[in-house]
Amino acid sequence: MNIETIAVHAGERPDRNAGSVIDPIYLSTTFERDADGDYPHGYMYSRNGNPNRDALEECLSALEGGAAAVAFASGMAAIAGIFGMLSPGDHVIAPIDSYYLTGVLLRDMGSWGIEATFVDMTRPADVEAAIRPGTRLVWVETPTNPLLRIVDIAGVAAIAHAAGAICACDNTFATPILQRPLELGADLVMHATTKYLGGHSDVVGGIVVARERGDMFDAIRRTQIRGGAVPSPFDCWLALRGIRTLPYRMRGHSENAAAVADFLTRHADVERVHYPGLRDHPGHEIAARQMKMFGGMVSFQTTGGAARAVEVAARTTLFTRATSLGGVHSLIEHRASIEGPGSSTPNNLLRLSIGLEHPDDLIADLGRALG
Ligand SMILES: *Cc1c(COP(=O)(O)O)cnc(C)c1O
Repeated sequence: MNIETIAVHAGERPDRNAGSVIDPIYLSTTFERDADGDYPHGYMYSRNGNPNRDALEECLSALEGGAAAVAFASGMAAIAGIFGMLSPGDHVIAPIDSYYLTGVLLRDMGSWGIEATFVDMTRPADVEAAIRPGTRLVWVETPTNPLLRIVDIAGVAAIAHAAGAICACDNTFATPILQRPLELGADLVMHATTKYLGGHSDVVGGIVVARERGDMFDAIRRTQIRGGAVPSPFDCWLALRGIRTLPYRMRGHSENAAAVADFLTRHADVERVHYPGLRDHPGHEIAARQMKMFGGMVSFQTTGGAARAVEVAARTTLFTRATSLGGVHSLIEHRASIEGPGSSTPNNLLRLSIGLEHPDDLIADLGRALG
């Protein structure tokens, strides 16, 4: 079946008793046993398993082409769920520009005997050079935040596998509609469902999809249940409700972002535009190969330095000044001031999460703000 159909139907569990079209929300924390002690419906206690969580896990697993998925209470809990399968002595390779807290968590894990090396993953030779005998995990993220740099997933996965390591990919910015890392060789895919999957800026969540149901999947499932950072039934229901329209939203986000990026490249007060759909973007060729469309995130650098960039963000009316991404509302953010003193982000850079308003209205708002 095609991805639009999978997005609408995968995992659905309508209530047969009521003839409902949409899944009910199962708030019950506990489930009845048979007289002989069995659990006839497969559920015992909601931290261990719940119909709404199963529905979300099944749907995302089908969309990514995986064997099974494990849902968490946030994207960071999903990342911690993957890192939880590491042992003292293990070595991790991660991108220098990974999601900020991913890097922080990896550095924190030094005190548990897990070491990380951070490399520029747009250069596969740097990944190869960082491999050590204990390298267990190579973490990929693409497009990256906030410069929208592109990593060759197939290339990095091959380097990881040659070294006996596994490759995990944070697919939050692309979603399975634009890019399917498992098909490109990754072993695990992770998402903050908080972003495009939920899609309406109203639910925090995370999920890991595994290519196979093996020891690795079992370890992540154990962390979900024992660590207990599980999403509520309503969180799962909301995330899945968002996913039902994901293919069409990603098309809209990508088309709008391409139009905004094109406008910005032609504006005299814009120094540089970062969007993988632009032909002169350094990662354009790889992006065109591994992505179906180029996504809804655009960053740009204004003339006039940080003060000008902050001023432009202050003057938009349709774009809301806020962090996060992937919702129907367009957002604008001055990244360097969010990231703080250690930030390597150019201080005249604004990051846009392009929503589903009409692109002409978004362009008019940016045009007015740029003056
Ligand atoms: C938001 C985000 C995360 C973390 O997800 P939370 O739900 O905020 O914990 C991880 N990776 C990427 C790329 C993100 O954008």
